[in-house]
Amino acid sequence: MLEVQESPTAAVSALVREKQREGHHVINLGEGELDFDTPQVVCDAGIQAIQNGDTRYTAVGGTPDLKAAIVEKFQREDGLDYGPDSVIASTGAKQIVFNAMLATVQAGDNVVIPTPSWVSYPEIVRIAGGTPKEISCPAEAGFKLQPEQLDAVIDSATKWLILNSPNNPTGAVLSVKELSALAEVLRQHPNVLVLADDIYQHVVYSGKTRTLAAVAPDLRDRVLTVNGVSKTHSMTGWRLGFAGGPAWLIKAIDTLQSQSTTNPSSVTQAAAACALREPLDFFWPRLAALKVRRDRTLAALDEADGLQVSPVPDGAFYVFAHCGGLLGKTMPGGRRLETDGDVASYLVEEAGVATVPGTAFSMSPYLRIAYGVADEDLDLACRRIIEACARLD
Ligand code: PLP
Repeated sequence: MLEVQESPTAAVSALVREKQREGHHVINLGEGELDFDTPQVVCDAGIQAIQNGDTRYTAVGGTPDLKAAIVEKFQREDGLDYGPDSVIASTGAKQIVFNAMLATVQAGDNVVIPTPSWVSYPEIVRIAGGTPKEISCPAEAGFKLQPEQLDAVIDSATKWLILNSPNNPTGAVLSVKELSALAEVLRQHPNVLVLADDIYQHVVYSGKTRTLAAVAPDLRDRVLTVNGVSKTHSMTGWRLGFAGGPAWLIKAIDTLQSQSTTNPSSVTQAAAACALREPLDFFWPRLAALKVRRDRTLAALDEADGLQVSPVPDGAFYVFAHCGGLLGKTMPGGRRLETDGDVASYLVEEAGVATVPGTAFSMSPYLRIAYGVADEDLDLACRRIIEACARLD
């Protein structure tokens, strides 16, 4: 455990809560969470489940009804045909990733993680006893993994490649062409499994996303397609993620789960089954609102001295802003900003705006700005960031 870091995004949120308790007005642009409510019909399904007495243990990997809803979702939205033995529900997509790694990775194995990446992948790999093999995908490449990079990094100890599109923290979205090019490389390396983390699937501003297993059906036997209800359905607190993949892997995850957390909450499962069957009509106006917020954030950062965003993020609800222009400047108290961690601390202490430094995502100097907050908070936070940048010498 000495080698495992606490989630930096959870740490930022804890700091914000502490500052707010002390009476400071801090706007949290550090959390991967939307300010929208869980749709009422989904809440009603949860309430109904309690009233029906659906409050007992269920099958470890999900009730038959939830599994059927997951199977239908994969068919309808992804063009993927998974049977009930090839899907599983867990307590959040995070638990799916955790269980998949713990079930398959052993000492000596490595897991290829294109960076910038979600904070938890490398730590989960370390917990499982493996070695994260981070591969840098800079802004000039659109923050996207290039086929030749993938080919060069895979070795005989590579167990997994993790893909996350739309991406946290960059918002980059892999096109069908880009996925196909990666698939071509993967065909040369038949022992490598692929985890496609599609949790931001619907949060994309131009066109639709496609998932690897649909773009390259011949790889399906070694792809774990991960998704959940946290983001699209604003259900972060309910804790429900799911996956489709080869039956042997789903069985291994199920066995591990049976000896750890057992089933996800029975009430949550009923609500999630409803969420997955409901048309996404409720979501499209939310997506339009998010696009407006993204554009406002980009316009504000354009005004802020020392912050730069390129390329424009096409998905998720994050802006990954380069903050190199602020390093070397001095704060009103006389201290110099040396790292993106210093910039994030300056913004939270002096401007009351919490962001997450790029180091947390393995690329510096950057700040991840999560714009899924209420419009008035976002506008105020943007003004504060512009003013705080202007106060630097
Ligand atoms: N994957 C990515 C890329 C994420 O950003 C997150 C949450 O922020 C998750 C997985 C975890 O989602 P869940 O709330 O379903 O555990």
